[in-house]
Amino acid sequence: MDGKQKIFELADISQVYLTRQYRFTALKHINMTVEEGDFVALLGPSGCGKSTLLRIITGLQQPTVGQVIYKDVPLTGINENATIVFQTFALFPWLSVLQNVELALEARGVPKNMRTPRALDLLDRVGLDGFESAYPRELSGGMRQKVGFARAMAVEPELLCLDEPFSALDVLSAESLRGDLLELWLEGKIPCKAILLVTHNIEEAVSLADRIIVMEKDPGRMVKEIRLDLKHPRDPQSPAFLRYMDEIYEALAGKTKARAIEAGGAPGEAGTIRLLPHVVVNSIATFLEYSYTHTSNTTDIFRIAEELGIDADETLMLTEAAEILGFATVDKGDITITASGQEFMDADILKRKEIFAKAVMELPIFKWMVSLIQKSAKKRLHREIILGALELEFPEKQANRLLDTLINWGRYAEVISYDDNTELIYSEAAQFAKKN
Ligand code: ADP
Repeated sequence: MDGKQKIFELADISQVYLTRQYRFTALKHINMTVEEGDFVALLGPSGCGKSTLLRIITGLQQPTVGQVIYKDVPLTGINENATIVFQTFALFPWLSVLQNVELALEARGVPKNMRTPRALDLLDRVGLDGFESAYPRELSGGMRQKVGFARAMAVEPELLCLDEPFSALDVLSAESLRGDLLELWLEGKIPCKAILLVTHNIEEAVSLADRIIVMEKDPGRMVKEIRLDLKHPRDPQSPAFLRYMDEIYEALAGKTKARAIEAGGAPGEAGTIRLLPHVVVNSIATFLEYSYTHTSNTTDIFRIAEELGIDADETLMLTEAAEILGFATVDKGDITITASGQEFMDADILKRKEIFAKAVMELPIFKWMVSLIQKSAKKRLHREIILGALELEFPEKQANRLLDTLINWGRYAEVISYDDNTELIYSEAAQFAKKN
């Protein structure tokens, strides 16, 4: 087909969330175009603004700056041509499978006598014939999600948006539903012109999409656009597939240099303040062991993820933690264990704690927290006080997670101690200073 029709364009979209305490850039300068026949994946770690972007494209939210141009017309209000399938699709529990789909057809104004045959046809397409009279509670997660797809298709949207549609399913159901979706799409049985899939699963994006837009967070932005030159069915073990996986990890994991300097910046300090990755020390240690026991001390990040059976989000957070602590460096999708990382791995538990303490006390945010506690009259502070300070910089959920990480790392390092009952945080740093 020559001269493919443009479905929509995002023209320099930025989204800033303003609350009384903080100003948060969730999306910065997003530009992209989706054309007829495109299967595009928006890929990135949680918090990079994927859901925000979907809400903007479907008109549920107006961006702070920029606009959505849908078929050459700037979008104002709800986008009638787009439908979203969510992670857990809200079906009406008191309606049968058939009635759930018929309701979507009714909402679209399909005449009564045509609804049942159309609904039956849609259910047949997604492989649910025989389950028309079942109720949602009688279905498995994967089957419920198929009803969700059938309902979305009933609306015949030009643009079908899928927001992490497989991530609430078990591994096998997700795999089979991905196959079903792809088959329907490739055979032209889905009555829509383009699919936009939001995911944080790298392998899923490479298996399904023809184009991948890689996003990063803090602030949410596009870092790379990849056109995949792979025919279906795609073999996840083929060299070409693995090259794309590596390319994406490379884009997401970045390069250690400048990042570690910003990492863990203290509240109130100039420059970019980054969150610490939300991972516990035990996981970091296991991650390092897997990276370290490889034949060489440099390895592809995605291979460790595969071996550990963890998803990309977690892998990238662990990688970042190892970098921030100075235990590893990252370049071109490869992770290399540093001398200090090796020392940590080889040490016994007490020595490990010492090395870890040294590493965390290099981080401005730890110094900030410890000095805050030491300046207090009783050399202890309630969790809520530190949380309050962090909430001046981060949304509540992120501030809470950051504090959890600070407590977990700080306790392991014995830089602080924490009483779970009273929620008081004590400084142990004086002791730490003596030891060193
Ligand atoms: P993703 O879908 O990639 O996980 P989201 O779009 O849900 O990302 O969120 C992006 C960032 O914006 C997150 O840090 C989130 O906490 C923040 N955010 C989302 N909605 C709001 C809001 N209404 N007010 C303030 N911050 C928000």
